[in-house]
Amino acid sequence: MAVEKLKCKECGAEYPLEALYVCERCFGPLEAFYDHAEHSDPEELRRRIQAAREDVWRYADFLPLEGPPPGPGNRAIPHAGLPVGWTPLMRADRLAEQLGLRNVYVKNDTANPTHSFKDRVVAVASARARELGFTALACASTGNLGNAVAAQAAAIGLSSYVFIPADLEEQKVLATGVYGTNLVEVRGTYDDVNRLCTEISAEHDDWAFVNINMRPYYSEGSKTVAFEIAEQLEWTLPDRIVVPIASGSLFTKIARGCDEWLALGLVEGASPILHGAQATGCAPVANAFAAGADFCQPVKPDTIAKSLAIGNPADGPYVLDLARRSGGSVEAVSDEQIREGIGLLAQTTGIFTETAGGVSTAVLAELARRGAIDPDERVVLLITGDGLKTLDAVRGRFTRRAIAPTVEAFEETFALGVAA
Ligand SMILES: [Zn+2]
Repeated sequence: MAVEKLKCKECGAEYPLEALYVCERCFGPLEAFYDHAEHSDPEELRRRIQAAREDVWRYADFLPLEGPPPGPGNRAIPHAGLPVGWTPLMRADRLAEQLGLRNVYVKNDTANPTHSFKDRVVAVASARARELGFTALACASTGNLGNAVAAQAAAIGLSSYVFIPADLEEQKVLATGVYGTNLVEVRGTYDDVNRLCTEISAEHDDWAFVNINMRPYYSEGSKTVAFEIAEQLEWTLPDRIVVPIASGSLFTKIARGCDEWLALGLVEGASPILHGAQATGCAPVANAFAAGADFCQPVKPDTIAKSLAIGNPADGPYVLDLARRSGGSVEAVSDEQIREGIGLLAQTTGIFTETAGGVSTAVLAELARRGAIDPDERVVLLITGDGLKTLDAVRGRFTRRAIAPTVEAFEETFALGVAA
């Protein structure tokens, strides 16, 4: 396999492929580093990918496992777990028309097993955790990650601990507990939950905290979004991608995925322009972008977009740098715009997104309204989670009419037959 070592993103110090996540020298984050020397022929690599199974392991050459992907035939990790990824990229012509654009695509990651993109990162982290011999999975979650960890742990037969803020949407709480996980509801914000989990992970070094001590492996799973988009666009990159921002990891890994494929000649041209999307009620990265700052000021979240409610985003500085270098931006939209975004997407594409997708849709609408996008550009809108997870966001947004079970009542209520 191509993964070689972990490397500090800040000082370049190198580390072995273990459950490590922070540089001992400078406290910078560690990232997986690959040797692609054997992948010098892009045609051969492309054929290899096209012949592989249609899930995230299609891109195993770019994921941080030391052995082959999990599944039958792999003696170390024979259980494949939930099949994840290879979600649809849908042309959204009706949405494009509404926005005055011509080439809008929706990457629909609600089509994953627990209905969010987090299944990708958990698939990779849990496979690496099994390679390293861990027997329990754990995470600090704003909701979607908890769903994914609990389900994947159930599928592969590991115990799991999911830590969430106690005020989470009920749908996300129930859709985690059902898998038989140890659900820990913490009275505090996500940032409190994350700090607590960092402390607990130091005590329980036999637990794989997917987004803490397994973070360098976990985060690599997000690159598969970029790979799939490129493959689904006939091995080309789009001109722009709109990405919701919580910790910022997804944003930075989409950029990294595009860059890796450009460097290997799998795709040609330029990296996409990247736009980050936040809610004004939790916009540390958008605020820093607007202020021209290189670092984020932590905020206390207050927004309906709870899956994005990280007040102190770990990858904020990297997002700021990438957004600026790509010619993009980081934008924030109000809770009302988020609700409108959910409605706009649902009514023009048939895709029901949770609040995070309402954020990215509203940001795309705002960029289009402002004239920031050339109408001929190919724009990908990333929809990271399903609307059934955040039903309160659409409560009261449309008229509900209960009628008596008679034809007259129906025709009267809907004013049918009256005009005739
Ligand atoms: Zn370092």
